[in-house]
Amino acid sequence: MSLELNLCHMYPEQMNLYGDRGNLIALVMRARWRGIPVRYHSVGPGEGGDFSGYDICFMGGGQDHEQQLIGEDLVRRKGPDLKAAVEDGLVVFTVCGGYQLLGEYYTMGGGLKIPGLTLLDCRTDAGTRRMIGNLVVSSSFGGTVKTLVGFENHSGRTRLGGEVEPLGRVLKGFGNNGEDQTEGAVYKNCVGTYLHGSALPKNPWLTDVLLLRALERRYGRFDLEPLDDVVEQAAHRVAIRLAGA
Ligand code: GLN
Repeated sequence: MSLELNLCHMYPEQMNLYGDRGNLIALVMRARWRGIPVRYHSVGPGEGGDFSGYDICFMGGGQDHEQQLIGEDLVRRKGPDLKAAVEDGLVVFTVCGGYQLLGEYYTMGGGLKIPGLTLLDCRTDAGTRRMIGNLVVSSSFGGTVKTLVGFENHSGRTRLGGEVEPLGRVLKGFGNNGEDQTEGAVYKNCVGTYLHGSALPKNPWLTDVLLLRALERRYGRFDLEPLDDVVEQAAHRVAIRLAGA
């Protein structure tokens, strides 16, 4: 059986803060190192809208201005089919500003509310103080408790509703809102997180969980062969040490 994965990069020009496109490189390379080719597609404003042919979608972070630029297109043009695909198990990985727009809304500092996809049961309101720094999270998203590392830079405070689970619990840093120790949100195979970094290269286990879920959705039960993660694990440990976790 010839394997392949179709990856969709949403708003690559507008939503890519702090090197978030490094998440794509991690997904593509960890698949290719296992002999699984990945086809890269990108959809910007006014493009796309049919998500039935994709296995993984990614959207990076963005400043308030960029979120305003793409918000209406995301909700009106991409929203209906993207939500249907997530219900069908599409793997979605979004960071910070992209994550915020998967919720009910993001209210910016000046009070302007950007309607979101209502894909994730959460809502975000900008605070007066930005939450900036190294972020370490304890997560059981992969089935066993492991750490996630990265850094965060956001004014948005995200509050989760009852229809989502947090991606993890904050060990060091602010996370969703700096108060309830939650970080990120998960619904089915749709993940939002505040981890910039980019996140996936230093969190190989999370990359592999996303790949495995996409492969199993498309091909049924799948065994992902382990890779030599010595370098990635070393970077992960340094990030934890730098965070003082
Ligand atoms: N503009 C949003 C905020 O400030 C998201 C920022 C980001 O993507 N890093 O919260």
